[in-house]
Amino acid sequence: MEKIWLSTPHMGGSEKKYIDDAFDKNWIAPLGQNVNLFEHKIQSFLGEDKHVAALSSGTAALHLALILCDVERDDEVICQSMTFSASANPIAYLGAKPVFIDSERETWNIDPNALEEAIIDGIKRNKKPKAIVAVHLYGMPYKHDEIKLLSEKYEIPIVEDSAEALGSMYKDQKCGTLGDISILSFNGNKIITTSGGGAIITSNLEKKQKAIFLATQARDDAPHYQHSHIGYNYRLSNVSAGIGCGQMEVLKDRVNQRRANHNFYQHFFSTYDHIKMQVEPSSDFYSNYWLSAILFEDNNGYELREKLRINLNDKYNIETRPLWKPMHLQPVFSGAKYFGGNVSEDLFNRGLCLPSGSALSEEELNRIKEALEEEL
Ligand SMILES: *Cc1c(COP(=O)(O)O)cnc(C)c1O
Repeated sequence: MEKIWLSTPHMGGSEKKYIDDAFDKNWIAPLGQNVNLFEHKIQSFLGEDKHVAALSSGTAALHLALILCDVERDDEVICQSMTFSASANPIAYLGAKPVFIDSERETWNIDPNALEEAIIDGIKRNKKPKAIVAVHLYGMPYKHDEIKLLSEKYEIPIVEDSAEALGSMYKDQKCGTLGDISILSFNGNKIITTSGGGAIITSNLEKKQKAIFLATQARDDAPHYQHSHIGYNYRLSNVSAGIGCGQMEVLKDRVNQRRANHNFYQHFFSTYDHIKMQVEPSSDFYSNYWLSAILFEDNNGYELREKLRINLNDKYNIETRPLWKPMHLQPVFSGAKYFGGNVSEDLFNRGLCLPSGSALSEEELNRIKEALEEEL
């Protein structure tokens, strides 16, 4: 039995054409036509008032986004606790301190009440947070209106981590355009991929230019190599960007395919009272359903989750994965401040991500269905 993976790369077909073009022109460098075209394609998708800089990873994009928010050593930065570690690591790169926030139960994302508590606490200690890193978990938009209200009330910029949410929308506004600065990831397992890559998005052209300046070793305008700032090597390769150009042509299909997977699971689980899915709370939310995730609403949810996860792997060769382990529970961030209750911890204990790739065949979906029927 071939392994069924959680999420695999899914080429559209024209990627090679762009890569061949890079080879033909010998543009094997972190700049070139594919990089420009890829940025243009993302910009056309998100909206023409947006400026896009293609980077080597989503993590690099978050690092630069925090620098653009003037985050410095010993500053505090708010971050959704339930997320992939890449949302929080760049805070540490800068010598700043993360303040983690619990999730709410509807979208599983940053809880506005705990967020305001954390902001007020920071202000009282004369440590007003420099930025709010909010995440669209598994493609599900966070409660943007509530978060934006707090961001404006206390004048703290939102760094929108849209790594998992290209193609998602909140009130018809595309994820990746909601933050004061936003980022995307094109890692191998994301909804589209450049094998590895990311992007920073801003409506301010100067900020885009500054991001590119920092991403290309911060060279001053001089014939020799002169530097007045610390720089980084964070630009996207022209070969990788070629993959991205091909992938942008099929983005809408990929979103539809992932949403169809989610429908398939929702239909399946509708007859299991103790299993709930992560679903759009209202028509304001449109998820790309990058990953379909379930929750065992049962007192021994953890045991049931583990039994299913292990059996799917051992007996059926089907990969599943617990939800992201919250950052405030990670050994590396022990000692960090945390606001909220135990929602994210509870989701982590009882939740499971299911195979969600856009390339899943009908036969594979049937194999998953039969395995689930057997095990539940
Ligand atoms: C994947 C991911 C990132 C990091 O992106 P990379 O391109 O892998 O560096 C950041 N945040 C979240 C929520 C992610 O899922």
